[in-house]
Amino acid sequence: MTARYTFRILRYLGMVTLISLVDPRYGIPLALSLFLIAFFWIDRETREETEVGRRYAQNLRLPVWAAARDVAVAPLVPPWAKWFLLYETWGVKGEPLLISKLFRPARFVRTERSYTLIDEDQNAGWRERIKVVVLIALLGALPAVALVAGWALGGWRGSTDTTAAFWTCLTVFSVGFWSVLLLDDRVMTLTSRPCPDPDLRELCAPAELRISYRPQLLRFWIRGGAVERPWKQVAYLAANDYESLPPDERKAVVAHEAVHLRQHHDLYLGSTPVMFVAVVSGVAVIGHWLSLPAGNIFAVANSWPRSVASLVLLAFVAIFVVVMPYLRQAVAEPAAHRGAARVVGPEPVLRLLGTPPSARLSWMGLLPLPNVAAELAAQVREHDA
Ligand SMILES: [Zn+2]
Repeated sequence: MTARYTFRILRYLGMVTLISLVDPRYGIPLALSLFLIAFFWIDRETREETEVGRRYAQNLRLPVWAAARDVAVAPLVPPWAKWFLLYETWGVKGEPLLISKLFRPARFVRTERSYTLIDEDQNAGWRERIKVVVLIALLGALPAVALVAGWALGGWRGSTDTTAAFWTCLTVFSVGFWSVLLLDDRVMTLTSRPCPDPDLRELCAPAELRISYRPQLLRFWIRGGAVERPWKQVAYLAANDYESLPPDERKAVVAHEAVHLRQHHDLYLGSTPVMFVAVVSGVAVIGHWLSLPAGNIFAVANSWPRSVASLVLLAFVAIFVVVMPYLRQAVAEPAAHRGAARVVGPEPVLRLLGTPPSARLSWMGLLPLPNVAAELAAQVREHDA
């Protein structure tokens, strides 16, 4: 139990780091109020999960039940990765993870909807235990440094010079962003296995195709995903869908992700632009600490007239909040659905879309979206006629 609380509290402190970045002087009062919210929230969540856990523990004593739930092909998850998964998915309300032992690896078992993680009986070796300790130290050090910077460097006491605190927080934020991103990539690999079906693998080659056991969120069902980094291209198919969808729909999901990868949607509409922003602030951080005037992008921006700077800032926010989400729905998703329909025909794609042809007409009721479902339905009628 203590282990679960530790990672949940670290998650709350992670949020405080972000607030400290905006203005360090808000760090400590906000941390205290967040702690209060965290206390009640974590308490409720823990009670719900203990309830589910107790039911599972009872059922697991029935050998037939346990055998039916066991997934022999799923990977064994090292202890640090299971805790990182709890740290990351908590708050978005996923499948409750039934883990409590700090140093034990975990295995996947089937739930009513998808999968959960259950502790193994034996502790992991010392190498794996060290990784858990390092993870706690990293996730704890980031908010601790940001909060201390806000307090000790003048932010908290309301002095005018908060510059040092700001740069410390920005440094912590940059380190935190890249750590979480790289650890998440690693956890995606550790909670998935290579797809054994050669036809499906062929569909998204040269990208790798993996079957993902990552527990599903309670409100969304994520069938697949495409991750594009400068160093790798991977498509994921949810293990439940791999096991239960009819072959043509399974193929449609993989073909859909293959289009995202081939047209590099992640590169300009997905996580890469966010990574680009993080690189820019990372360069500014290095520029500041090494006193390189050219490297300090914020100093350059500060020399602009206020009107120009405001416009640039507004445009920047608009790109991330309006333009990119719209293009994802208006360009990337229709392209992926059409591409999948070219590979497997329109029927399986329509079945997966599952919405009536008129349901997806606009984005936030403001901007038009192509009605792919209607297009595909027309193709089916044409074919039938
Ligand atoms: Zn898609």
